[in-house]
Order: sequence, then C-alpha cells, then structure tokens
Amino acid sequence: MSVVVDGIVKNFTVSGPPAVHGASFSAPTGAITALLGPSGSGKTTLLRIIAGLEEPDAGAVRIHREDVTKVSPRERGIGFVFQGYALFAHMSVRENIAFGLSVKGQDRKEIAARVDELLALVQLSELGERMPAQLSGGQRQRVAFARALAPRPKVLLLDEPFGALDARVRVELRQWLRALVAQTQVTTLLVTHDQEEALELSDQIVLMQDGCVVQKGAPHELYDHPATPFVASFIGSTSLLRGHVQGGQASLGSTSVRAPEGTVDGAQVRVYVRPHEIKIARPSESATNATNARLPQVEMLTRVGGFVKIGLRLPNAELITVQLPCGEAEALDLRAGERVTVDFGAAKVFVDGAR
Ligand code: ADP
Ligand code: MG
Repeated sequence: MSVVVDGIVKNFTVSGPPAVHGASFSAPTGAITALLGPSGSGKTTLLRIIAGLEEPDAGAVRIHREDVTKVSPRERGIGFVFQGYALFAHMSVRENIAFGLSVKGQDRKEIAARVDELLALVQLSELGERMPAQLSGGQRQRVAFARALAPRPKVLLLDEPFGALDARVRVELRQWLRALVAQTQVTTLLVTHDQEEALELSDQIVLMQDGCVVQKGAPHELYDHPATPFVASFIGSTSLLRGHVQGGQASLGSTSVRAPEGTVDGAQVRVYVRPHEIKIARPSESATNATNARLPQVEMLTRVGGFVKIGLRLPNAELITVQLPCGEAEALDLRAGERVTVDFGAAKVFVDGAR
C-alpha cells in the first residue's frame, strides 16, 4: 500500500514561515522511507498529517490511491511508534500488545493467537508475562512495535522510534527493523534526524529543510549526488572548503578539483569533502623545498578504533580532517609537521549562490 503525499502545506501561525511548505513524495509499498532532516524541518508535522492527527492547509494524502485527507485517523489503517512510546505500565507485555485488538472486540482465542504471533515476530516470545518496568528500553520499544502491528495496519509510521535508546541498542535495532519490515511488507515511514540511521535503514530518503523536501531518492543517490550544498553538508559528515574557479578547475591552494560544467572563471565555489574520501600521499623525493612549503601540513594524528584521524592544515590556513584505515596510516608513517599531497577526487563542488 503506497503512501502519496501531494503538495502538503501546514501553517501553525499566521505570520511565521509554514511548518511544511508544499511537500510531495511517494512512499513505495513494503519499503522503508526515511523522512530525514534537522530538528524543526517539519518531519513530525508531515508524519502527523499522514496519520490524520493534524489537518493540512493544502494538499492531499493518498493511501493505496485512495484520498484519505478527510478520513479520520482510526480509519486510515495506520500503526504508530513514537520515541519513548509509553506502554501501559499496569499491563503485561501480552496485555499491551492485545490492547488494540480487545478494543476492537475480537474473540479471546483469536487475540491470544495473534499475540503469540506478534511476540514471535518481535522476538519476545519468552517475555509475554513481564510488566513493562521489567524490560530494557530496546525490549519496550519492540513491544510498542508489536502493539502497533497487532491490528495489521497497511502503513507503519515511526517518529524517532529509537531516539531514547543508547547508541549500541539503536544500531542493533536497525537490523531488526529491516527484517521486520521485510517480513511483514508493511509500508513504513521513519522520521529521523540521524543521517546514519537513514542511510543504513531506508530504501528511500526524503530529505527536508525548512518545511520543504530538498531531495528524495535512494540513500546512495543522495550520498553520491547531493542536489544542494545543504544536502552535501547534512549527509556524510563533510568538511567545507572555499575556492575559486580558473579554467574549469576549482583551486583550493595546493590542489584543485573539477568545477561544474560551464562555471565561469573567477566564480566562488563551496567544496564539500568527506574525511574518508580524501587521499593523501608523501610528496615525491624530487620535490623542492619551495614546492613542499606550499603543501598541506599534518597538524595532528589521532587513533580512533580502526581509523586514524589526521588534522591537515591547508596552505590557505583551513583545517580539514582526513580519515584513513589504520593499515594505510601505518604504511604512510606520517608525523606531525610533515607535508603531504592531497587528492579531493570525490569532492562535491557548488557554485556560490545555491542554497
Ligand atoms: P521536526 O519533527 O522536523 O523537528 P516539527 O514538524 O516538529 O519538526 O516542527 C516544524 C516546525 O513547526 C517547527 O518550527 C515547530 O516549532 C513548528 N510546530 C510544530 N508543531 C507545532 C504546533 N503544534 N504549534 C505551533 N508550531 C508548531
Ligand atoms: Mg520531530
């Protein structure tokens, strides 16, 4: 059941900028679509509009080609999980999962069978009789998923569902959620501000900025081909360098990268580079001292697990971070103060003026 969001506008105030400003996208059936963006970019508002908890000023929501913009939340066939979604503290895990089904007046036996099925689905079969207080945060969130899935929703809406959990559990639950969606084939919309979570978990990313959708596509498309400087800076922890264009090349002091087709000489550009995409090497033996003096200089080296982070001072005084696997760093055997050549091969170049 696909979800289509078509030109949604939402204003909370008369004078301020809209919380959602003409957002459109389509979430394919059985896949995970991440709504990604910084805090305040309108993700939750958009999700609440899809759920029917908020009414849009303009635009439409369609679920499986049916316009549901005026349909009540209960009749949209949607399940929700929010950050720190409260379970009923006085009810067991089983009772929590059964809650939505009991309200619907289903047969007791049927309910018990469905709860067993859901407990197995979220890998908590042993813990059905526990109370929420006797569960870890990750287990509690899995009960929340089971409760949301109990009435067999067509669509699952998740708002920062792992936001309150510690980092290790968050990462574990990513694999778990992927498997859950693959198994249930429920169309899933995931709100997150965590680009790594979106990159790892989703089939499609809808990236939001100031209430607008700025780019949508497969995670690798946004990563490899960011449409705007904002996308480049938001996805993939980038460093920003400034340069100017001469003969089709954006000059960055000791090195240069290709400028976008048709950029005029003298144009100012912003160049986004990722720490692990920068290549460095020792200058050739034959290089003169004068040439060497114009090369970037290693300022510090820090071992971080399997990587070495290298702080590199460029000739224009900008400091960038290069990240190398330990093996490569050992082979280079660099010391603070040494000069290196750099290659910004995969850098993304934007002519100034773009948003
Ligand atoms: P996100 O989930 O991306 O952090 P939100 O959708 O929560 O963003 O908020 C988008 C904008 O709308 C923010 O500027 C926020 O302050 C505003 N906003 C959200 N909900 C309300 C509300 N109920 N009343 C007034 N302003 C709101
Ligand atoms: Mg939010």
